[in-house]
Amino acid sequence: MLVLLIAAGVLVLGGGIALVIARGRRELPPPEVLDAITEEEIEHPEHPEPHLEDESDDSARATTTIERPEAAQGRLVRLRARLARSQGSLGKSLLAVLGRADLDDAAWEELEDTLLAADVGVGPTTELVNALRTRVRVEGIDDPERAKAALRDELVSLVGNDLDRTLQASGGEGKPGVVLVVGVNGTGKTTTVGKLARVLVADDKTVVLGAADTFRASAADQLQTWGERVGVHTVRGPEGGDPASVGFESVKKGIEDGIDVVLVDTAGRLHTKAGLMDELGKVKRVVEKQAPVTEVLLVIDATTGQNGLTQARVFGEVVDVTGVVLTKLDGTAKGGIVIAVQRELGVPVKFVGLGEGADDLAPFDVEEFVDALLE
Ligand code: GDP
Repeated sequence: MLVLLIAAGVLVLGGGIALVIARGRRELPPPEVLDAITEEEIEHPEHPEPHLEDESDDSARATTTIERPEAAQGRLVRLRARLARSQGSLGKSLLAVLGRADLDDAAWEELEDTLLAADVGVGPTTELVNALRTRVRVEGIDDPERAKAALRDELVSLVGNDLDRTLQASGGEGKPGVVLVVGVNGTGKTTTVGKLARVLVADDKTVVLGAADTFRASAADQLQTWGERVGVHTVRGPEGGDPASVGFESVKKGIEDGIDVVLVDTAGRLHTKAGLMDELGKVKRVVEKQAPVTEVLLVIDATTGQNGLTQARVFGEVVDVTGVVLTKLDGTAKGGIVIAVQRELGVPVKFVGLGEGADDLAPFDVEEFVDALLE
């Protein structure tokens, strides 16, 4: 009897354990289903299960780690040293002339030459020198500190501290803000779109990128990489495809996904004015079938001087430019182009590029800029 009872107990316990093991194991699909799964599906499952990556696998981690970009506010303070380094000689020359005991005609002429050499432009230079000269005379300024303060004031009002330099990126009626980024290839346009995405993400905005520069082979890849780093989706089309259709699709995606801002990178082929006008005009028209364009940013390479101004003129005639991004200001002492380009287009510089780092794009601030110049 005892033997019988022990045997029954072992049977019940064994059955229970077997049941638990069976529950814990995943049921395999029937063989005919397994046969139908192709290798392609195994390599790229439609719904891949999340997995923990090997800590040592850096390349795999790099593609999945979402970066947190630096807040836009205060970037110019961080980059101020770079600005001061590039523009320092201009400031030093201006202050050296103003520091002289006798401000005669030759001194004022020298001041004028210094400003012209920094690409400030003839009109603004004459304005600044006249205003300063009058002030020095009327206020009887005769010491370098007061002269420096007057120069600072005049520079600030010349660059303009009453212009709206905020990025117009709010769409109305539940639509995203749409920012078209235009400019000649090589100016840093695609890089700027990537950096702008980071500025917006840092501000907790959701973003979609449109790779409408379909003419430069690597532009879409480059843009997508920028986007992936901050978890932003890029809409792309076939290489050499219609830029307007990519613009259209990206804004459509933005609307469908309830995105805050769509940034559209465009092709900057300055072949003929008519060709450019057709191309950019079409992109804008087609995009606006989805939502109004809230900002057209023109990217200009600060190191190109007069050439940059010519580009500004041509683009200004072709599209309604609403803001300027001046790139590579870290690589030129001719910061006066900030003033010249604003005069040329009648629109404010909104961002400045001060390096190749991902967060080296700063909202432009007049006082910070002038102070760095005169540091
Ligand atoms: P795109 O052809 O106009 O789209 O030009 P890219 O975005 O490809 O940029 C061209 C080059 O300019 C790249 O090597 C960028 O890293 C560089 N670049 C862009 N902005 C800046 C900047 O503000 N400072 C510096 N030093 N380089 C920049």
